Amino acid sequence: MEQDRCSPSPRDSAQRNRQATAPAVAARPERLSDIVENGLCVGCGLCQAIAGKDRIEFVITPEGRERPVERRKISPDDWQRILRTCPGIRVEGASSELCGHDAESDRIWGPYHRVCLGHAADPDVRFRAASGGILTALAAYLVESGKVSFILQVRASPDRPVRTETVMSEDGASVVRSAGSRYGPATPLASIMDALDRDEPFAFVGKPCDVGALRLLAREDGRVARHCKAMLALVCGGAPEFRKTGDLLDELGLREDEISLLRYRGYGNPGRTRIETRDGRAFEKTYLEMWEEESQWCIQNRCKICPDAIGEVADVAAADYWPGGAPSGEDAGFNSMIARTPVGRDLLRDAEAAGAIRIVRELTMRDMDDTQPHQVRKKESVWARLAGMRAAGHLAPEVVNLRIRELARERPMAANLAQARGARARVRQGRMTEPHAMLPGVDGWSEKEDGAGLKG
Ligand SMILES: Cc1cc2nc3c(=O)[nH]c(=O)nc-3n(C[C@H](O)[C@H](O)[C@H](O)COP(=O)(O)OP(=O)(O)OC[C@H]3O[C@@H](n4cnc5c(N)ncnc54)[C@H](O)[C@@H]3O)c2cc1C
Ligand code: SF4
Ligand code: SF4
Repeated sequence: MEQDRCSPSPRDSAQRNRQATAPAVAARPERLSDIVENGLCVGCGLCQAIAGKDRIEFVITPEGRERPVERRKISPDDWQRILRTCPGIRVEGASSELCGHDAESDRIWGPYHRVCLGHAADPDVRFRAASGGILTALAAYLVESGKVSFILQVRASPDRPVRTETVMSEDGASVVRSAGSRYGPATPLASIMDALDRDEPFAFVGKPCDVGALRLLAREDGRVARHCKAMLALVCGGAPEFRKTGDLLDELGLREDEISLLRYRGYGNPGRTRIETRDGRAFEKTYLEMWEEESQWCIQNRCKICPDAIGEVADVAAADYWPGGAPSGEDAGFNSMIARTPVGRDLLRDAEAAGAIRIVRELTMRDMDDTQPHQVRKKESVWARLAGMRAAGHLAPEVVNLRIRELARERPMAANLAQARGARARVRQGRMTEPHAMLPGVDGWSEKEDGAGLKG
């Protein structure tokens, strides 16, 4: 596996070295910190929603990760529910009940009813959104047509635009204000109980791991199936740590409290990363300046071993559509989209009929391979990476019904061995572990260290 610039800071390394001498890792997590310290937490917020804010608090660690900390003892029942639903340790593909018996299935891309190319019909939505605005257009259609009362999603915080907050958008305009990709920590599921408590129909937009966790929660809490009418996912290359944003601000010599706008992309496809300050300055970076060098993505450990980054249990998964896998310039904005369930298939049909989205043409899964080559590589490598982690005695997520073993079997033994050895080496070097997440002012961590060194 690649050495990435983002993960090892001197402080991180020192803490990791201390951990390297710690007792062997448990085969099964015994407490919340086992999930975090084994590098499996992705910061979705679900554990906090289950156990309550009085028991689990979220912190941004000095390394730039948004992580849960057990402030008061989690009850045994809640701990069992967390074990059954946390996407860090359990990842499940779609059952035939969810995707329907008439769904087709692709070896890489999983179950689907339809795969097509399109964009939001409203040119303004298409322009503002991350790619072609399909997720925003579908969500806005659901809420404007009265099929749901609100959309649970994330957006840039209006008060602190560098941070990402969760919101329940109750009309189309509010959904459009949440358009765009947030390449930093986001905890959409921390608010899931508040959404369920409203006892109203809603839809959810999130990353594949967020949606996967919500599907698992549906088994625990009947309100999910009753109230959540659609789950929409973005296809995901990995969620960067806050450090990525912190580095950008450092490079530009900016403090967080100076910033009035931080847009990672959008306003074009892919659009530029744009930062505006309260005193009227503006800074921009192209998409390729931000993301061309994969070792500088600063993605979380869990993302490097993600068994489902393509939204296999979403109703609709939407992605970029760039032949070859990277933008060759700006375009008007397009999405590939995969309707995976009957709910997703009908949603695309109804939204198109209502004039909310435009479907340009049908695609094949080989078009998906061509436009998402990194997803194909990851899907084919994950099983060997997990095997390498386990061989080194490290905790690894339990993966069900995602074809990763079958995909590994199709690959040359040498390729699997290389992935497994890479993962084993990564574990042995302490690069899969994370330092203990601490509460500011409680565990001897100064408040100044909050926010991955972001000043302000
Ligand atoms: C971390 C990350 C990694 C990505 N990696 C890939 C990739 O490898 N390949 C690819 O094709 N596309 C990737 N994308 C998705 C891509 O940027 C677009 O979001 C996707 O194509 C949908 O486009 P859209 O125009 O329909 O989105 P929009 O209409 O702009 O809607 C985006 C929706 O996603 C939600 N959202 C944004 N950021 C987050 C977040 N961090 N967590 C939860 N929800 C969020 C917003 O609330 C909004 O509802 C990634 C996005 C993110 C945030
Ligand atoms: S992945 Fe989500 S549920 Fe699991 S420990 Fe992290 S925040 Fe909690
Ligand atoms: S790569 Fe996987 S674990 Fe990481 S944010 Fe994306 S869906 Fe979640």
